[in-house]
Amino acid sequence: MTITLITGANKGLGFATARRLIAAGHDVWLASRTADRGMPAAEEIGARFVQLDVTDDASVAAAADRVREASGRIDLLINNAGVFGSRRAADDIAATEVAEVFDVNVFGVVRVTHAFLPLLRASESPAVINLSSGLGSFEMITTTERARYGSLPYSSSKAALAMLTLQYARSVPDIRFNVVDPGYTATDFNGHRGVQTLEEGTDAIVSLATAGADAPSGTFTDRNGTVPW
Ligand code: NAP
Repeated sequence: MTITLITGANKGLGFATARRLIAAGHDVWLASRTADRGMPAAEEIGARFVQLDVTDDASVAAAADRVREASGRIDLLINNAGVFGSRRAADDIAATEVAEVFDVNVFGVVRVTHAFLPLLRASESPAVINLSSGLGSFEMITTTERARYGSLPYSSSKAALAMLTLQYARSVPDIRFNVVDPGYTATDFNGHRGVQTLEEGTDAIVSLATAGADAPSGTFTDRNGTVPW
C-alpha cells in the first residue's frame, strides 16, 4: 500500500487530496500544524494524523520520528502547505513579509523534504509532489492575464519552489520530484473566489500520485498537461 504524507492537509486542496488518495487505496498521513484542526479532519476521512508545522524544525523532526516509528517509510510526500502573504502593492512590502512567505512556501518544503528523505529512501518507489502555481511560472506571468493576480512574495516564492524542485529532481535521481499547479480553486486561500471545484483542483495531484513508478521526474503540470516554467 502506498504510504502518503500531505502537509497542510486539514482543509482545502490538501484535505481533498487526502480524501481522494484514501479512496484510491493510499494509507495517508494527514499533517496539520494544529491538532484541533488536524485530528477531526483525519478522523473524518480515515487518515492518520501527525502534527507538523513546516516553519518549525522541532515539529518537522518530531513528525518524521512519529511516522518512522509507526510506518517505517513513506512512498509519497506532498508538500501542499502554503500561504499567500501580503496582498499589498510591491512598493509597500518589506523584507520581513517576503521572508514569512518564503519560510512556509520555500524553506518549509526544504525542511520537510530534508527530514523525510530517509523515510522516502526506505520506499521502493519514492516520490515528492510540490504544490506550486501558475503565478510562479515566468512564462505565464509574462504572457498571460495571470500577471494581474501575481504578488511579490507569493509569485516569487512559487517560482523559487519550481526551481527548487528541478534541482532536487536533477540531484536526487532516486526520488521523483514534480511540481503541480492545481489551478485557481475555491478554498479559504482565495476567499473561495477560485473558479474550480476541489475535485478539479486536485486532478493533477491525484493523477501524478497514482501514476506509479513510470511517472516522470522534473515536470511542471496542471490538469490540462504541461505548464511552462
Ligand atoms: P488553504 O485552504 O488556505 O490551505 C492551506 C493549508 O496550509 C492549511 O491547512 C494551512 O493550515 C496550511 N499551512 C499554512 N501554514 C502552515 C505551516 N506553517 N505549517 C503547516 N501547514 C501550514 O489553501 P489551498 O488553496 O488548499 O492551497 C494549498 C496549496 O495549493 C498551497 O501551497 C497554495 O499555494 C497552492 N495553490 C492554491 C491555489 C488555489 O487557487 N487554491 C492555486 C495555486 C496553488 P491552517 O489551517 O492551520 O492555516
